Amino acid sequence: MTRAHNFCAGPAALPAEVLQRVQTELLDWQGVGASIMELSHRSSEFVGVAERAEQSLRRLLDIGEDYAVLFQQGGASQQFASVPLNLSCANDTVDQIVTGQWSKKALAEGRRLVNVNVASTSEDSNFSTIQAESDWELTEGAAYLHYCPNETIGGLEFDFVPHTFAPVVADMSSTILSRPIDVDRFGVIYAGAQKNIGPAGLCLVIVKRDLLDRARSDIPAMLSWKIAADNDSMYNTPPTFALYLSGLVFEWIEAKGGLRAMQALNEKKASRLYSTIDNSGFYNNPVDVRYRSLMNVPFTLADASLDKRFLEEAETEQLLNLKGHRSVGGMRASIYNAVEQSSVDALCDFMHRFETKYG
Ligand SMILES: *Cc1c(COP(=O)(O)O)cnc(C)c1O
Repeated sequence: MTRAHNFCAGPAALPAEVLQRVQTELLDWQGVGASIMELSHRSSEFVGVAERAEQSLRRLLDIGEDYAVLFQQGGASQQFASVPLNLSCANDTVDQIVTGQWSKKALAEGRRLVNVNVASTSEDSNFSTIQAESDWELTEGAAYLHYCPNETIGGLEFDFVPHTFAPVVADMSSTILSRPIDVDRFGVIYAGAQKNIGPAGLCLVIVKRDLLDRARSDIPAMLSWKIAADNDSMYNTPPTFALYLSGLVFEWIEAKGGLRAMQALNEKKASRLYSTIDNSGFYNNPVDVRYRSLMNVPFTLADASLDKRFLEEAETEQLLNLKGHRSVGGMRASIYNAVEQSSVDALCDFMHRFETKYG
């Protein structure tokens, strides 16, 4: 068996140790004679799995009891609609910060459901930087402020949490668990699992309990955070396998030393890759250095006609999924928690040789 170096933006690499554990438990989960996938979500076995996952996540992020932790379906994209439906009336105004493709998508959905003020956009810099907070045009009395701390496609990451009197809502899909955060600064955090948590099919929502009463009365039950919270995320059948596997990933992170340890490993990987890019005359990363992403590293080749060859030769060395998003082109290496330093080293080594050969 070979495990390639996988730089996919999502669904992304999972820790090999976790997959091995899943393999050993797949046919017979802890002696019950069936897979965890084959048990009722109301069984004591599965309820225990879900509770363990939640407790592990709470320890990792130091989430207080004043926050509910929800496991939902529909991905982060569903939350683009769930956020306005749970937090605002149609007549309210909300602030949205636009820094890339994902916050743009959240904006489009927000506009369908509520009055949106774009308090800041960096579109005129092609989303290569973030406008100074002092230039943002916030709304007084906004129902919330929505932003995307790490733009997965553009590789642009905030190094601060926005300052506002409104509850801050963050789409953390591609940054959650990459380093410690101060949950208390946020009203709502949501994240699709398939980047840095587990398999696709699950979306994590961490919501301050005192925001659970703000939903519109006509909100569909499946989108209501309050209904999810009141039912321990089991209003209907949750994605049981994804939840089980995510719980194993949380425990894997804890065993590795938690989010401080993840941060140290991630910073080492990112710094190796960015310095490979910066020390070459051949590769380029367009993002303002201050806002470079720890998790998603886009880069271009000096000669775009070599892109295809780069990807082909990379693949023969088991360096997979380096193609940039279709909307921006070039390359992108996503280096989430489960991507090891040795994979980043192999990529940087390949990049050096490719540059020497063709640069
Ligand atoms: C991947 C991603 C999404 C979309 O996630 P889905 O689960 O596919 O809906 C939204 N926001 C960010 C920041 C992402 O990286």
